[in-house]
Amino acid sequence: MIYDVAIIGGGPAGLTAAIYAGRSQLKTKVVEKLSVGGQLLLTELIENFPGVYQMNSHGWINMVKKQLSELDSVDLQEDCIVEKIEYVAGSFRVCTISQVDNSREIFDSHSVIVATGALPKRLGIKGEDAFIGRGVSFCATCDGPFFKDKAIALVGGGDTALEEALYLRRFARKITIIHRRDNLRATAILQERCMKDEKIEFRLSASPVEILGNNKVEGIKIKDLKTHQEEVLACDGVFVFIGFTPDTVFLRGLLDLNDRGYILTDEHMMSSCQGIFAAGDCRHRPFNQVVTACSDGAVAAYSATKFLEKKKI
Ligand code: NAP
Repeated sequence: MIYDVAIIGGGPAGLTAAIYAGRSQLKTKVVEKLSVGGQLLLTELIENFPGVYQMNSHGWINMVKKQLSELDSVDLQEDCIVEKIEYVAGSFRVCTISQVDNSREIFDSHSVIVATGALPKRLGIKGEDAFIGRGVSFCATCDGPFFKDKAIALVGGGDTALEEALYLRRFARKITIIHRRDNLRATAILQERCMKDEKIEFRLSASPVEILGNNKVEGIKIKDLKTHQEEVLACDGVFVFIGFTPDTVFLRGLLDLNDRGYILTDEHMMSSCQGIFAAGDCRHRPFNQVVTACSDGAVAAYSATKFLEKKKI
């Protein structure tokens, strides 16, 4: 069987594309490398989705799964990585490897929507890799409960950093947000909430140098970027939220990426390769939100439908 559309990635963009493709009765296969949800699995609450007051991320994922389960033309495969996409005889050959048993599979599709999202960036400092799982974390929802009454150092000054600080404050005794500039990048409302919080303090114009400890994290060495003085902050955990890198390495050579690896598309979400569309955080775009990822997914599915109609498939 040849699919009409292969959707790579099961985050908000990919799931929305699947709903729209399924409702257009396209034979659709969604391949997700872990569990559906994408970056939403790393967060707890969404507060800025219009019309939905304080949406629980996991609740949202479950509702979307239910919507998809009612669409007969949509197949969903989790724990499966797409290694390669090739253009073969007028369609796309998608090569996958199972994360469960390493088995390889190939399927063909007339079009592809890439919605692979992005992976958390690392600081690249000494101690970061060594203490992953022993105090260093990139996911507040996953690891927050291990830090009850503990001191946390949190690196980053964007929306993710401040939102996760506000989540972690329910467990932690104290949170120190370390940010490399004087000004935070995060939305004003998040800044205001963090500034007002008696558990949260800031070390601005400071950069992490090394994560310290024996068997587990015991502190972080930081450098004041104005005085160049180094100092050790005692802490039990270091959470890193310094942005994301797009998960697009497997597409190199097939379509145009920008210098940071984001997929370049037109307003129809079409990439430089006819028949391959992109949606969500893996795509070069000005504003990454759940609502914009969903919007991208809907447009990509619509454009794929039009593309298939033109090809008379
Ligand atoms: P981001 O906006 O790119 O912010 C990354 C932060 O990390 C910046 O403050 C940056 O500092 C800092 N940083 C980057 N590299 C660093 C390094 N090597 N060492 C120290 N600090 C470093 O990333 P994000 O916060 O993950 O957000 C990503 C996107 O998702 C954004 O578009 C954001 O608006 C969106 N988002 C939205 C929501 C929401 O609406 N509720 C929630 C989460 C994320 P500089 O500021 O100096 O560059």
